[in-house]
Amino acid sequence: MNAEQAAASAGPTETVDGERPDLSNSNVREDLAMAGRCALVHLPTGRTCLLPLRHQGPCEFHRPQEAQDVVSSRD
Ligand SMILES: [Zn+2]
Repeated sequence: MNAEQAAASAGPTETVDGERPDLSNSNVREDLAMAGRCALVHLPTGRTCLLPLRHQGPCEFHRPQEAQDVVSSRD
């Protein structure tokens, strides 16, 4: 049968961890991070920091709708 083939098609191991050692994956929006934003999510409110990556000072958290505007407007 094709059991061996199926196992081999699982693909290369993705190294999600380690790309952003400064941030925990669990509270960063990947789409915003790819857009060059801080993307840190304030879990209690669900708001997201839209400041540039590695910005100075504290995070500024914005509503999910504003975050979506950033993601959808990037080229
Ligand atoms: Zn931030």
